[in-house]
Amino acid sequence: MASVDREYDYVVVGGGSAGCVVAHRLVRAGRSVLLLEAGPSDNLLYIRMPATFVRVIGTARTWPYQTEPQAQAAGRTLHVPQGRTLGGGSSVNAMVYIRGARQDYDDWAAQGCSGWSWDDVLPAFKRAECNERLSEPLHGTDGPLRVTDGYRHPLSRAFVKAAQEAGLRYNDDFNGERQDGVGFYQSTTFDGERGSTSATYLAAVRGDARLTVVTGAHVLRVVLRDGEARGVEYRRGDGATVAVDARCEVILAAGALASPKILQLSGIGPGSELQALGIDVAHDLPGVGRNYQDHLEVSVYGRTHDPISLFGNDRGLTALRHGLQWLAFRTGLLTSNVVESGGFADTSGSGRPDIQFHVLPVLVGDVDREPLPGHGLSINPCFLRPKSRGTVRLRSADPMAPILFDGGYLAEQTDVDTLVRGLKLARRILRAPSLRKLVSEELAPQRNEACADAALEDYARRYAKTVYHPAGTCRMGAPDDARAVVDPQLRVRGVGRLRVCDASVMPTIVAGNTNAPTIMIAERCAEFMLAGTPRAVPAAAPAIEETTA
Ligand SMILES: Cc1cc2nc3c(=O)[nH]c(=O)nc-3n(C[C@H](O)[C@H](O)[C@H](O)COP(=O)(O)OP(=O)(O)OC[C@H]3O[C@@H](n4cnc5c(N)ncnc54)[C@H](O)[C@@H]3O)c2cc1C
Repeated sequence: MASVDREYDYVVVGGGSAGCVVAHRLVRAGRSVLLLEAGPSDNLLYIRMPATFVRVIGTARTWPYQTEPQAQAAGRTLHVPQGRTLGGGSSVNAMVYIRGARQDYDDWAAQGCSGWSWDDVLPAFKRAECNERLSEPLHGTDGPLRVTDGYRHPLSRAFVKAAQEAGLRYNDDFNGERQDGVGFYQSTTFDGERGSTSATYLAAVRGDARLTVVTGAHVLRVVLRDGEARGVEYRRGDGATVAVDARCEVILAAGALASPKILQLSGIGPGSELQALGIDVAHDLPGVGRNYQDHLEVSVYGRTHDPISLFGNDRGLTALRHGLQWLAFRTGLLTSNVVESGGFADTSGSGRPDIQFHVLPVLVGDVDREPLPGHGLSINPCFLRPKSRGTVRLRSADPMAPILFDGGYLAEQTDVDTLVRGLKLARRILRAPSLRKLVSEELAPQRNEACADAALEDYARRYAKTVYHPAGTCRMGAPDDARAVVDPQLRVRGVGRLRVCDASVMPTIVAGNTNAPTIMIAERCAEFMLAGTPRAVPAAAPAIEETTA
């Protein structure tokens, strides 16, 4: 094994949404940090240009995760790509800025996560945020994460009007006092570019001698001694294995599908399962890899009379003009985050929204489905509080083997019922006057107006797809909660000097998109670490960046 004779105060595993935030806060506080990212750099035009993120999915900058066949989703294998580059999900996502609902965090606190109620987390959301339009009492204006209003395509505008005609209220701020209603999403973009955590948080400390970033560094396991994390081992792009030491702590920020994998490879997880794979059990922690949750959505497609969808005319000279406009001025169609509009609706009468709409001014497909030909829009209702749960296990003791991933998708009938109600509402919106005058026909689920619930359920089971929000696999809980993986300060229960800091710690997935909540989690994690440890002497590390991608 090769080794490096450098040690760092902190080793952060995964340079994604959360990892870049933690690295920023620790470096700013004078600590030395090694940030290890398995993927390549994020230096790519299609990442910086907001409208082109779809072109990054399926390349070397995403992980091609896929589930086992899902019995309740028509036996399908669902693809769940995740970011694999600096910025992680925030470098490949649709940039929708949503925090979830106040009640989500109050529920976390009620489940034993003391210090995570809405009143506790609001300061961290505000500390992160630099909003161009909104300010006190709910928004921040000085944080690293830029939040802006975006490009508004005519079909997005028509959806927002049609939804009001269908009875939903207009909402000017989904992160405000009320979540319900329809409107335009704010996005994590700035000056016409994507504002990933790499382009914001990490970029702000890139020149600091205390930060070392290594890309192409696939972390294999956490090195444990006397029940504490002492460092990690990673594999470089050239195949060499490297060990590094952490003077203070190791922080796992590899995302909800990789953090539980790394814990299990390190001997931390369900003891009997690890033993069966020949892995020495360092700490029997049955909750690792359990409690997997995600949001699923299903599309209602409307074809338009005229050729007006977002990229429909983006060919030849027109495409050249759009490209030049973006390159010269950072304006125009290529600044669109594609998911420009949407909203939240309570379809069950519970008093809380149970459906979110992602609306795309284009007929989209996804990794499992070819886009429909022609022009139109896609109205995608997704459920917000799934009851189904899945698992992330090891397939073998080989760190490079893919995970054994059972999403548990649609296992609970209530999740399917929610999608059916969402589909019905989406179809009503498609037929409301402002869209009716633009849309010539509904392409799916069904052309005719009448459509039985059973047909909608069948459609949902056959076509529901991920909204790319894996969460919950290293669940946070009270210190005496035997099924919890981390305590409310995100410390791995029963193992010293090791935290998990990413979407996997969510005890229940929030009712909304997960990037801003994950960034909030990372802000809080840094807060806990810096409050609990004495100030370290800044290491004399040179400002060298090893890049082995
Ligand atoms: C296509 C897509 C669209 C989305 N759209 C939105 C949206 O519009 N709005 C929103 O709020 N959310 C959206 N999300 C979800 C959001 O981006 C994620 O919830 C968020 O990025 C999760 O952050 P994380 O820090 O938990 O994980 P990630 O950001 O995934 O970071 C994990 C990092 O760890 C790295 N890593 C993994 N394994 C290893 C290893 N063994 N060694 C070293 N590094 C490793 C990964 O490469 C990655 O960079 C979307 C996600 C995707 C994929």
